[in-house]
Amino acid sequence: MVAGKLIIISSPSGGGKGTLIKEVRGLLPDLGYSCSHTTRPKRFGEEEGREYYFISPDEFERRIEAGEFLEYANVHGNYYGTSLAESRKVFNTGRDLIVEVDVQGALQIMDKPEIEPISIFILPPSFEVLRARLTARATEDADELRTRLRNSFNEVMQYSKFDYVIVNEDLSTATRQMASIIIASRQQRDRQESAVRGILDSFDASRHLFEGE
Ligand code: 5GP
Repeated sequence: MVAGKLIIISSPSGGGKGTLIKEVRGLLPDLGYSCSHTTRPKRFGEEEGREYYFISPDEFERRIEAGEFLEYANVHGNYYGTSLAESRKVFNTGRDLIVEVDVQGALQIMDKPEIEPISIFILPPSFEVLRARLTARATEDADELRTRLRNSFNEVMQYSKFDYVIVNEDLSTATRQMASIIIASRQQRDRQESAVRGILDSFDASRHLFEGE
């Protein structure tokens, strides 16, 4: 079985990574996904176990102590983390795992040399577009909106730590770009070794007789 890759998707809040991931999962249904844990309050329309597992700060800290997170971070005043157990469940099936994390979480994963992730940074076309998108979705109060916009200045500067950058101007273009990166990564030579070995075995000249030789 070919080992799955961890695919990190990161961007400032409002960069559109959640929507992009949903679209890409529609195109690549075998892509594994791990639902994150958070201590932020549930938004209208969100469901436990779909957008997030919503847990208390005490419970989150207990899980940090117990080493239950692949990565976690305090983002805009709330904890967010990727469960190690959920990630392992996907990897045990040999599938790729896509995770949506803030920049701090992305850097934590990149610091683990054994993981060798593929990292993709999503940039909004401009600060004005980011502000317009965050304002239009109206999920934060004025203070939270300001915090997210203020944090975006430092977050965009981290693009240089990522393998790939996608400018999310047009959803269908950005979706195709993200899916292309994932599909191409599956053909990397080191991920094809076991398939190649089986084929090369059939090219064993001593097993084949050629007429006239
Ligand atoms: P939101 O509150 O808008 O759902 O998410 C706020 C930020 O937290 C976003 O940048 C989102 O990508 C990030 N985030 C979501 N899940 C995780 C996670 O499991 N780990 C980390 N480090 N960040 C996350």
